[in-house]
Amino acid sequence: MDLKREKLDELNNYWRENCTCELRKTATQAVFGAGNANSDIVFIGEAPGKSEDRDGIPFVGAAGKFLNEMLEKIGKKREDIYITNIVKYRPPNNRDPEPEEKETCNEWLINELKIISPKLIVFLGRHSMLRFFPTEKISDLHGKLLIRKTPELGRQAFLPLYHPAAALYNGGMRETLIKDFNKIPKALEKINNSMS
Ligand code: URA
Repeated sequence: MDLKREKLDELNNYWRENCTCELRKTATQAVFGAGNANSDIVFIGEAPGKSEDRDGIPFVGAAGKFLNEMLEKIGKKREDIYITNIVKYRPPNNRDPEPEEKETCNEWLINELKIISPKLIVFLGRHSMLRFFPTEKISDLHGKLLIRKTPELGRQAFLPLYHPAAALYNGGMRETLIKDFNKIPKALEKINNSMS
């Protein structure tokens, strides 16, 4: 059994019992992060939607299908990457998560990221980016590789992207997201070169 996977299972079992998020009361189940615990890349979305709440797996609905298509275009499969959300429970009627709901799930997310220790964190949407950079605008930073020091993770590479659900039916945003998404392999190459 792989060590990171074991640690993630332990973490999820702990928080499944101890998370005080109010959304637990209305959600069907916690939706844990999924994928390759040894991945170089972690994608962070916002919160589970209806399909994710039903299946207990992140990004399995329409936004997830779009994400899978974009991954395929850069030669990756879902099994190659790790994907999670800032909030692990579905907000009623898919409303935006409240600040206190994001806060109660934060330690869970940070520990998840510390275990995986990816080379690159890709933000899927504004909410995910604002968790780390609360004063920034996604319209300014989308598609830009950022190497920043954060109090929780130290020096870390980030790539903010528009959320696939927001871009799905918006022609212009969709094109921008695809263009930004295609920068992932180069971003990883740049990070690897800067480390060697
Ligand atoms: N949108 C998200 O942000 N996360 C999911 O898991 C599904 C849709």
